[in-house]
Amino acid sequence: MTERAREIAVNLATFRDRLTRACDRAGRDPAGVTLIAVTKTFPVEDARVLADLGVTDFGENRDAEAKVKAAALPDVRWHFIGQLQRNKARSVARYAAVVHSVDRLELVEALDRGAAAAGRDLDVLVQVALEEPPRPDRGGVAPLDLPELAATVADADRLRLRGLMAIAPLGADPDEAFARLARLAGQVRAEWPDAGVLSAGMSGDLESAVKYGATHVRVGTALLGRRTYLVG
Ligand SMILES: *Cc1c(COP(=O)(O)O)cnc(C)c1O
Repeated sequence: MTERAREIAVNLATFRDRLTRACDRAGRDPAGVTLIAVTKTFPVEDARVLADLGVTDFGENRDAEAKVKAAALPDVRWHFIGQLQRNKARSVARYAAVVHSVDRLELVEALDRGAAAAGRDLDVLVQVALEEPPRPDRGGVAPLDLPELAATVADADRLRLRGLMAIAPLGADPDEAFARLARLAGQVRAEWPDAGVLSAGMSGDLESAVKYGATHVRVGTALLGRRTYLVG
C-alpha cells in the first residue's frame, strides 16, 4: 500500500465514524446514507483507492474531467454534481449514473435527448437554491419554480425524477437551510413517491444534512484533503 493509499484509508475510516455518530444522534441507520466521494481535481488513482476500500459512488463537477475518470473506472457509479452547461448534457448523459444539478428547463430537454441518444434512462435530481434571495452563480432553482421543473423532469421520456440536491448557503446556518430543504423534499415525495433521494451535506456540514434527512452526502475534502486548483 502506498503512503497516499494509507492516508486515504485513514481518512475514510475517520469519516465513517463521523457519519455513524451523526446517524446515531439523528436516530438514523447509517445504511440509509450513501457516501458519494467527490474526487474533482484529484487523480483517478485516488478514486481507485477508495473503490478498493468499498466506496461505490463518486462525484465530479466538470464534464471534461468526469468523462475521463468514468472511462478509467467504469465499475462504480459516477454522479454529476456540478453546474451543467446545456452543450455538455449529451456527454454527461452517456456516463452519469445520476445528474444532481438540474436547475432549469433547458437542461431537462437537453438531458432527455442525450439519454435517448445513449439508449438509456437517466436518474435526475433537481438542484434547489437555498439562498435567500437565490444566487444564480451557485446554481439551483428557486423554491417557487421547483414544482414546475420537477414536473417537467417527471414527464420527460428518458429521465427519472429521483429527488433533490442542494448546497447550504455560504456563511449561513446549515440547519435552517436544510430544514427548508427537508420541507421541499417532503412536498416532492408526496407527489412523486420515487423521488426520495436527498443529496445534501459536504465535509463541513454533513451532521446537519443527516439530521434533516440526507440520503446522499457528497464528501471531498474529508477524504482526500484540500483541493488545489491549477489556473490556466
Ligand atoms: C466539491 C463539491 C462537494 C464536496 O465538498 P467538500 O467540502 O470538499 O466535501 C460537494 N458538493 C458539490 C456540489 C461540490 O462541488
